[in-house]
Amino acid sequence: MQPWNKISKMPAPAIKKLQDELLTQILNVELAVRHPYYRELFKEKNINPADIKGVEDLSKLPFTEKKDIVAPEGKPFYPKKFVLEPPAEDEQKGKKKGFALFGKKDKGPDPSDYYFFSLYFTSGRTAKPVPIEYTLFDLENLKEAGMRAFDILELTRDDTMINAFTYAPNAYFWQTFYSTIGIGSTALQTGGGKVLGMEKILKAMDSMEAPVLFAAPGYARFALQTLEHFGFSAANLEKIVVGIDYAPVSAVERIAKLMESVGAKENKVRRMYFSSEAKSGWAECAPGFGYHTNPDHILIEIIDPESGEVLGEGEKGEVVVTHLDTRGTVFLRYKTGDIATGGITTEPCPNCKRTVPRIMGDIERSHLYLELQGKEGLVEFNANQLREKMFANEDVLLWYAEINRSDSGDEIKVVVKGTSGSDEDVLLKNLQQDLQAECKVPLSVEASTLDAVANHIGLEKFITEQTIFDNRDG
Ligand SMILES: [Zn+2]
Repeated sequence: MQPWNKISKMPAPAIKKLQDELLTQILNVELAVRHPYYRELFKEKNINPADIKGVEDLSKLPFTEKKDIVAPEGKPFYPKKFVLEPPAEDEQKGKKKGFALFGKKDKGPDPSDYYFFSLYFTSGRTAKPVPIEYTLFDLENLKEAGMRAFDILELTRDDTMINAFTYAPNAYFWQTFYSTIGIGSTALQTGGGKVLGMEKILKAMDSMEAPVLFAAPGYARFALQTLEHFGFSAANLEKIVVGIDYAPVSAVERIAKLMESVGAKENKVRRMYFSSEAKSGWAECAPGFGYHTNPDHILIEIIDPESGEVLGEGEKGEVVVTHLDTRGTVFLRYKTGDIATGGITTEPCPNCKRTVPRIMGDIERSHLYLELQGKEGLVEFNANQLREKMFANEDVLLWYAEINRSDSGDEIKVVVKGTSGSDEDVLLKNLQQDLQAECKVPLSVEASTLDAVANHIGLEKFITEQTIFDNRDG
């Protein structure tokens, strides 16, 4: 990756030129030579990487999908097919010679860039988690991506930070970890509710007088709603950075209101979009201005998920990532399954003036676009929007929805625990009316206890809570 002060101000045509160069380089120097999966694929499909002159030729290359990277049964080492092999002996000898003759510029691949450092996994909610291999080279990039995100989020070393992202071998927790180390701020790596638990996290936030909290949106909301119960203060809290899980702008507004109601010093809420397969996460400078990506690290395309057609700027579609400057696990045109409702833009950000491409709108999960069996045929149901509605509802503390199949068709059951001040009967009745109005199959709402709902959704057990349970077979 390049210096951020250069990249963040680079005009769009120069970014495009840089991406063309990085793409041809990674295709010819890395993938065609030492990437077992793509080397084979290029041969099999008769693709000559030298024919790819730039970003506009990308569509000549096939997509990579989750099914391509998941290890088949009994082949645990399959993910190694996506990992760059270290350079061969003669390449290294070439390096020494090149170094002597032409100086640093002509050096060949540095073997230490390819040495294994760590494995982080994709979040395996819908499929088996896939190991993504990081080398020291990637770790430096992860840290750089994190420092850039901190710059965009206006965080400095003077900010005490509470990292309540769930401790797990994933990019979310570790990018935040390495960037707090990189920036040199006082930070408590709590490991999230799974490790430290809500009470201790809130206590730490209070006693360390920390202005900044990192958490998944549902967990941040729950923290603010239970603060009073535990008797802690949020008087020093200024900013919550939400990431990992679905965080529409309406969720941001809900959290900001809650911050105000618990007496936080300020109520800034900022979003990050982490993509395991992009080996990094991107931050938004202010809600609605888009996730500021790193064009010298990852190339983003927005495509029609059905046809695969590359869409124009601002068009809603699936986020596809191509690695431009990674080692270890490398992906080309990987379909993330994430839908950016506002597509992508290369216009400079009207808020912070940075010029990097921005992913706009909310990030919906395509596996939550469901087809339900209605009385008169199949109907579409966007469970992302159900999540958004429930998140924004002030009287809901915790909830989940089940999709069940009966003889007469599919049905949705919403189970909810209201906030302590809310009238449960009124809440159930209102939810029933609101949700049924937008749903073409029968929908029921029932109340349950805090423990039962918390257990069911895996609060403080999973990386983020699960709220949609599709119980239909297949
Ligand atoms: Zn901006």
